[in-house]
Amino acid sequence: MATKSRDTSLFPGDAGDGTESPAQADRQASSADAGAWPGANTGAVALTFDVDARSVMLAADPSRASRASLMSHQDYGPLVGVPRLLALLRDYGLRATFFVPGATAEHYPAVLAAILEGGHEVGHHGYLHESLVGADERAERDYLERGLDALDRIAGVRPSGYRAPWWEATARTRPLLAGYEFAYDSSFFDADAPYPAPECSGQIVEVPVCWALDDWERYAFWPGITGDGRIDRPSAVVAAWWEEIQAIHAIGGIAVLTMHPFLSGRPARAAALRDLIERCLATPDLWVTALDEVVHWYRDGKLRKG
Ligand SMILES: [Zn+2]
Repeated sequence: MATKSRDTSLFPGDAGDGTESPAQADRQASSADAGAWPGANTGAVALTFDVDARSVMLAADPSRASRASLMSHQDYGPLVGVPRLLALLRDYGLRATFFVPGATAEHYPAVLAAILEGGHEVGHHGYLHESLVGADERAERDYLERGLDALDRIAGVRPSGYRAPWWEATARTRPLLAGYEFAYDSSFFDADAPYPAPECSGQIVEVPVCWALDDWERYAFWPGITGDGRIDRPSAVVAAWWEEIQAIHAIGGIAVLTMHPFLSGRPARAAALRDLIERCLATPDLWVTALDEVVHWYRDGKLRKG
């Protein structure tokens, strides 16, 4: 009986002959990885904030600009959430990564300045939080360049990190990032610890994410747009996150917390985040840091040693 050949278009980058299967050894966090974190650390937590503000709503439907209440819901992030979260991070001397769309930078230059003044990392998150689903290379380059231009023009920032809006990267995203001299991406889900993007010859480090560590599914609600009206209790959210962090720590991985200031900047949620940060900091061998520091460590040490 003839064997039906595989449809390789479903597996981009795979010749279909068994020669290019992903290297599992690169992806699995292990006790060896646990010993490889800096100092006495055996795992890491990265605090990341996506300052989507209005962009995430406008990218999906520009006519929403006339919905003043919806826009105010998004404005809460830069106007109230970011200052509250910056104060929280300052209380513990922590650095975090803020992914800022170009449109947010242009609309709230003082917010971007405050993030930088706090010593935090600013990463690229599109220009208007554009979806890359179905985007061609020209469009994807345009979004990258417009985002780079806005961050540079408003604050002189040249980001080393990128996060695809809605975590929807394409097969060409990481090679494009390499061409624009980024150091890392944080949009893929296929590991528990950093790994070199195989299609970029080690030029791009991937710091993987997961939905369970994102605040959107826990807190976001706008009738007809997102959520189902069920809004989780902040103490329950951080309890779930702590469970995730402990399990990832136990296998020597990194937990990338992804939060949005218009959601996690609300008072009870910020108070719960404070509680979670205190639990992390009370764990002596857990590194709490920003993504650029993780990538710097990874490229300088682990990657070079091969
Ligand atoms: Zn976003």
